[in-house]
Amino acid sequence: MSQADAYRQLSFWHDTVPGALDPGPGLTDDVEADVAIVGAGLTGLWTAYYLNRADPELSIAICEREIAGFGASGRNGGWCSALFPASLGKLERMAGREQAIAMYRAMQQTVNEVGSITIAENIDCHWAKGGTVEFARSPTQLQRAKDKVDEARLFGFDETDLRLLSAEQARDLGGASQVLGGVYTPHCAAIHPARLARGLAGLVADRGVQVFEQTPVLRIEPGQLITATGTVKARYVIRATEGYTPQLPGQERAIAPVYSLVIATAPLPDRVWDQIGLETRPTFNDLRHLIIYGQRTADGRLVFGGRGAPYHYGSAVKPTFDRVPEVFAAHRRRLIDLFPVLSDVAITHTWGGPVGIARDWCASVGLDAATGIGWAGGYVGDGLSTTNLAGRTLADLITGKDTAITTLPWVGHRSPRWEPEPLRWVGINTGLQAMTRADHTEARTGRQSRLASAFDRFLGG
Ligand SMILES: Cc1cc2nc3c(=O)[nH]c(=O)nc-3n(C[C@H](O)[C@H](O)[C@H](O)COP(=O)(O)OP(=O)(O)OC[C@H]3O[C@@H](n4cnc5c(N)ncnc54)[C@H](O)[C@@H]3O)c2cc1C
Repeated sequence: MSQADAYRQLSFWHDTVPGALDPGPGLTDDVEADVAIVGAGLTGLWTAYYLNRADPELSIAICEREIAGFGASGRNGGWCSALFPASLGKLERMAGREQAIAMYRAMQQTVNEVGSITIAENIDCHWAKGGTVEFARSPTQLQRAKDKVDEARLFGFDETDLRLLSAEQARDLGGASQVLGGVYTPHCAAIHPARLARGLAGLVADRGVQVFEQTPVLRIEPGQLITATGTVKARYVIRATEGYTPQLPGQERAIAPVYSLVIATAPLPDRVWDQIGLETRPTFNDLRHLIIYGQRTADGRLVFGGRGAPYHYGSAVKPTFDRVPEVFAAHRRRLIDLFPVLSDVAITHTWGGPVGIARDWCASVGLDAATGIGWAGGYVGDGLSTTNLAGRTLADLITGKDTAITTLPWVGHRSPRWEPEPLRWVGINTGLQAMTRADHTEARTGRQSRLASAFDRFLGG
């Protein structure tokens, strides 16, 4: 199998993204640049995009171990949302009420920013800003929906940001089973993520950014990136490696990679869509503890994913971890449970990838002025839009601009390191199992699970 064919098989999105997936040229010699970036996911690509826009004279080099869009950026659930992994309450404790609100407002604005840039730059990523509907399918989930809306109101977010839905209103958006109510936010678009990542990579390359593919970085040092085939010397060096970060020397406990797995159905006939709805392509989930997420694709499929795969000892990341048949089977059961009309649905694609989790569940972006080393990540499963805010922020920090986004509470935030093994392995996997058990207990007893809140406390969430 050719390398390009192997990349096609990474996910439904890679399989259907236009253009060849043959790797571009790698680094063959030492080079110099103003800014060197490790990783051509959306963090690296947005950083390059905004830097180039701010100053087209800057020389920018990206080293990517595989191809642009290989990682989470090319194979996620396609929710371009305003979600941020740290809650408003947590951000308030970190930085005060105004800053917490500013962070959430910046995320909402970021969704629109991604939409307008993709239109302005002709990146057709199947953008559909239909919002998100979260179904409440049990009394405990309904309570969680109310709590969510109450918290938003305490911080001044009104009906135009988040609103409680009656059972009928929720079912009008999507014909899920057992619906008692729900929550709706308009701040989300469903997209084809590989179209975005590959489109952006092509764009920055056309504007002179050097993207060296199949070029693994072995070490990051102040002023340089070291690879087996050459060194990139640069005043600024940016780590944009998210779930793969622990593989870099010195970063073993910075981020924990936790796997999220996804399935895609065959295109569904109109008679099925008549029952499922989701006409404006709102992304959807329900309010269980163990996260699930879905979207109706532009070509009439359902893409549906969630957690449930184990965390691997030592923060290991391997291609074989992307595929766990039992988790795919569980996702298919959950999807049919949500939409029973899918009882004999064919699944055409299965895949997965690592999301990066910081120990305090708070994403961060920053630039160390002394060393010139910058970073962004720890987005958990909310990076598709957050990478854009990260890229804009890094561009402002590198070009020395004080802007409204360079003072947001996640800028310069340092998360604590994860525990050493085996504590990390025990803690994360116990937590994942606790979430699954909590959902079963709640479904059985109708009461809120204490296990789940204990896990929340372990993560500091
Ligand atoms: C299955 C799944 C579903 C998700 N669903 C959603 C969603 O619906 N909405 C949402 O907001 N977020 C979602 N996420 C999270 C989101 O995709 C990520 O947070 C985001 O894409 C991170 O972008 P990134 O550029 O930081 O990292 P990545 O896209 O992972 O890019 C990192 C890149 O660095 C490269 N790299 C790593 N190490 C090295 C090295 N040593 N040398 C050179 N290159 C290196 C990798 O090959 C990779 O291409 C999901 C993630 C997964 C895995």
